[in-house]
Amino acid sequence: MTGGLDTDIAIVGSGFGGSVLAMIARRLGYRVMLIERGQHPRFAIGESASPLAGILIEQLADRYDVPRVRPLSAFGTWQRAYPHVVCGLKRGFTYFKHETGRRYAADCDRTNQLLVAASPSDEVSDTHWLRSDVDHFLVNEAIALGVDYHDLVELEGIEWQPSGDPLLKGTRQGQTLRVRAKFVVDASGPRGFLSRALGIADRGFDDYPATQALFSHFSDVARCDQLDDFRIPYPESRVPTPHPVDDAALHHVFDGGWMWVLRFGNGVTSAGIAVEDWLAAELRIAEGEPAWQRLLARYPSIAQQFADARPIRSFTWMPRLAYRAAEAAGERWAMLPSAAAFIDPLFSTGIPLTLLGIERLARELDQAGLNLQAGLPSTALRPGQARLYQNATLADADLTARFIAGSYAGFRNFPAFASYSMFYFAAASFSEMARRLASPRTPRGFLCGDSEPFTTAMTRLSPATTRPASDRYNSEVAAAIADWNVAGLCDAEKQNWYGVDLDDTIRYAEKLGLTRKEVRQRLGPLACSL
Ligand SMILES: Cc1cc2nc3c(=O)[nH]c(=O)nc-3n(C[C@H](O)[C@H](O)[C@H](O)COP(=O)(O)OP(=O)(O)OC[C@H]3O[C@@H](n4cnc5c(N)ncnc54)[C@H](O)[C@@H]3O)c2cc1C
Repeated sequence: MTGGLDTDIAIVGSGFGGSVLAMIARRLGYRVMLIERGQHPRFAIGESASPLAGILIEQLADRYDVPRVRPLSAFGTWQRAYPHVVCGLKRGFTYFKHETGRRYAADCDRTNQLLVAASPSDEVSDTHWLRSDVDHFLVNEAIALGVDYHDLVELEGIEWQPSGDPLLKGTRQGQTLRVRAKFVVDASGPRGFLSRALGIADRGFDDYPATQALFSHFSDVARCDQLDDFRIPYPESRVPTPHPVDDAALHHVFDGGWMWVLRFGNGVTSAGIAVEDWLAAELRIAEGEPAWQRLLARYPSIAQQFADARPIRSFTWMPRLAYRAAEAAGERWAMLPSAAAFIDPLFSTGIPLTLLGIERLARELDQAGLNLQAGLPSTALRPGQARLYQNATLADADLTARFIAGSYAGFRNFPAFASYSMFYFAAASFSEMARRLASPRTPRGFLCGDSEPFTTAMTRLSPATTRPASDRYNSEVAAAIADWNVAGLCDAEKQNWYGVDLDDTIRYAEKLGLTRKEVRQRLGPLACSL
C-alpha cells in the first residue's frame, strides 16, 4: 500500500469510540477511513458502562440508523443478539470502605458501604464490556457499513495542504501511507495522535490529586456475597440488597484510593487500583504484581476475595491517570472526549463522555453534509462550531475532574463520600430519565453541567474544599440536588441502600417538566420489563 488515499473523514483509533463514530459518519454519507495502530482483537481498558451510556447508545443507533449497535445498550438485548460478545452484568454501584489492617465488617447502620442500583432488572441492566470482544465486534460492523479500515498503521504526523485539508503521513508494515482527508477525528485516547502531532500541551486539571493506576484481568476472583466478611448484618430481616453486590461495579474504597472489581460472563474479572501518588509510592506501584500483593496485605477482606485469583495477563501500570489537553478541536480536526481528557475510572464516566462527544460531532457532521448537498461551501465543522465543541468537551472534563477530586478527598470520611456521590447519582439518573422520557429539561452537558446552581453547589460542598460536618452535610447535599433528584436519593432512612423505584420518577414528574401521566406513558416499555 504505497501512495495516497483520499477520504472525507479520517478517524484515528478504532476503540469503541472511533468505530461508532465511523459507522455514524458512513450513515451520513461520508467516505470514512478508520486508522488503527494495533490489530483486533486486543486488550483495552474502560469496561464499565452506565445508564446514561445505555440511553446514548439507543439514541445514536436510532437517530443514525445503526440498528446493529442498539442491542449493546442493555444486558438482555445484548445476550439475545450477540451472546458470543462477552459482557458482564452491571446492576449498579457497590462501595465498601476498608481500614488498613482490619477485616471489613458492615456497620449496623451501613455507614461504611453504599449500594446504588442503576437498573430495575437484568433485562435492562447496564453491562461491563470485555473490550477486546466489543471493539472487535464494532470494527467489523464499521467495515460492513463500508468504512475503509487500516490496521497496523504507524502515523508519523499531519500536514495541512494549501486547500486547508489535512494530510496524514505514516507507514503500514514498511510501506508509505498518505491519507488526504477533509476532516480528522482523533479517537486514539489520552496523549494520543493529535496531541503529539500538533504539540498540544497537557494542561492538567486545577486542584486535582496526582493519581496512578495498576490493573489486570484475573480468573477465580471470589464473589463478596459468598464471603463472611461482606455478609450483610441483617439476616433476620431478610432485606434484599438493592442489587446483587457483585453484579455491579464493585469498589473497595480506602484512604488514598480505591479498587474496581468488574465481573464478565466468561469467568474473567477486571480489577485494578487508582491511588494517589503518596500511596503509589508506599506500594512501590511501578513494580506491578508485587505492589498489588502489598495492597492486598493491607486489606485482609480484599485479600480474601483475591485468595484464589490469578492474573491472566501482565499488570499494567499507568504512572499518571489524569490528562487534559489544552485544545480539543480546530476547523479541520476534533478530538473525541476520550482523546481530549481522562480523569479517573471512578463513576464510569469515560464511556458516556465519549458517547456525548460522538453525539455532538455527529450533529455537526450531519449539518456539514446538508450544507454540501445545498451547494454551500463547507468544512466539516461550521465556523464557530469547533470552539463550541471544544468548550463543551473540556467543560465536561473539568467539571468531572472537580467532582472526582471531591470524591478522592471524601475517601477518608466515607459518610461524606457517600453523601457527595449523590451529586453524580442525581445527575446521572436525571440525565438518563430526561433523555428516555424526552423531557424539555434534558441536560446538554455531563453532570448537569449546564445548570449553574447544580455545579456551584457541587463545588461549594466538595470534600476537597470544605470539611463536611457529619450532622448537616447530608441534608445540605439533599437540598442542593433536590431539583434533579428523581430517584429518591439522599434519604437518610435508606441507610445507603438505594434501589430503583420507577414510582419515584412518576412522583417527581414535574422536575422533568412533564406530567405524571406523560411519565407513566413514556416509561411504558421500561416499566413492562420489571
Ligand atoms: C484504567 C482505566 C479504567 C477505565 N475504566 C472505565 C470504566 O470503567 N468506565 C468508563 O466509562 N470508562 C473507563 N475508562 C475510560 C475509557 O477507557 C475511555 O473512555 C474509552 O476507552 C474511550 O474509548 P475510545 O474508543 O475513544 O478510546 P480507546 O479505548 O483509548 O481506544 C483508542 C484506540 O486508538 C488506537 N490508537 C492509539 N494511538 C494510535 C495512533 N497513533 N494511531 C492509530 N491508532 C491509535 C489504540 O490502539 C486503540 O485501539 C477507563 C480508563 C482507564 C485509563
